[in-house]
Amino acid sequence: MKTLVFLEDHEGRLQKDALGVLSRAASLGGEVEAVLLGSEVGGLAADAGRYGATRVHVMEDVLLAKPLPQPRVDALETLVREGGFDTVLFAATVLSADIAAALAARLDAGLNWDLTDVVVEDGRLVGKRPALGDSVYVDVGWTSEPRLALIRSGTFEPEERGGTAEVQKFESRLHDFSLAAEMVEQAHEESEGPSIEDADVIVAGGRGLGSPEDFALVEELAKALGGAVAATRAVVDAGWYPYAAQVGQTGKTVSPKLYIACGISGAIQHKVGMQSSGLIVAINKDPNAPIFEYADLGVVGDLHEIVPKLTELVRARKAA
Ligand SMILES: Cc1cc2nc3c(=O)[nH]c(=O)nc-3n(C[C@H](O)[C@H](O)[C@H](O)COP(=O)(O)OP(=O)(O)OC[C@H]3O[C@@H](n4cnc5c(N)ncnc54)[C@H](O)[C@@H]3O)c2cc1C
Repeated sequence: MKTLVFLEDHEGRLQKDALGVLSRAASLGGEVEAVLLGSEVGGLAADAGRYGATRVHVMEDVLLAKPLPQPRVDALETLVREGGFDTVLFAATVLSADIAAALAARLDAGLNWDLTDVVVEDGRLVGKRPALGDSVYVDVGWTSEPRLALIRSGTFEPEERGGTAEVQKFESRLHDFSLAAEMVEQAHEESEGPSIEDADVIVAGGRGLGSPEDFALVEELAKALGGAVAATRAVVDAGWYPYAAQVGQTGKTVSPKLYIACGISGAIQHKVGMQSSGLIVAINKDPNAPIFEYADLGVVGDLHEIVPKLTELVRARKAA
């Protein structure tokens, strides 16, 4: 097996999920190399050696400065064809999903996505993929090479393996049609406090809040606990809260020490994103809400009464 792992730089660092995928690929054996594309990314390349890459292919070009997929597809097509890679792995991000899909079309290759594991069984690469609303896992494979795969975010932790990588520069023609798209603006959302991926405490709000304004109740409690705010898809779809805060099958997977669910029914698609939390507390007025089946502590009642009192109690306890 000759595997290529796509690395993304994330604000001057190698993206953690991609390093996790690299570590996993290295644990499967065979030749494992990585690729890094951007305008000034060469300095990050050697770092990949610690996570299992024996060689890192780097293409630096001002035309790769913006996180646009098509020029990257050109570069990867060249590298995969010339380097003879039979497997190409991506940690799923908005950018890498675009790249992987387009690369699959270019190479006439099969792409399996949303994988939560890759293993070698009887000498063959097999992907594990949740299906039917994450209620079962299915094995998926490829009928041709190269095999392309997108791994679900947060699946593998980066593991230092203590190696070093040879950094090898390469060049690729970038097609005119790949340079037609222009990024006119890129904005970063300013947020206070920890992100939901890093927070030890998450207070999550659902449709039971009743209105977008009532998210203030959840925000106040999160602030008092030094935690982050999360949301269900129902409220994100309704425009009450940004997608970045969505937890679940089509959002983020989180595992804080404490997860407080306020006005959340606990649908399976939400559960899969937070079930590995240390302690799950649910506040819901319906005693039959599904979330009580897996919450460690359930409070049956109106969140509009309970949450402000809880916030007061936390503030009082902290002040004492
Ligand atoms: C393919 C697919 C992917 C999906 N992905 C996701 C995902 O990533 N994340 C996700 O969250 N969902 C996802 N969903 C949607 C999911 O199925 C649910 O519809 C959603 O999680 C419900 O959100 P909710 O709990 O906020 O709303 P509801 O299901 O409407 O629940 C609201 C809850 O609030 C309670 N409540 C109402 N008023 C009060 C009150 N005053 N005090 C206390 N409790 C109150 C109600 O009893 C109810 O249990 C997905 C669905 C599909 C089909």
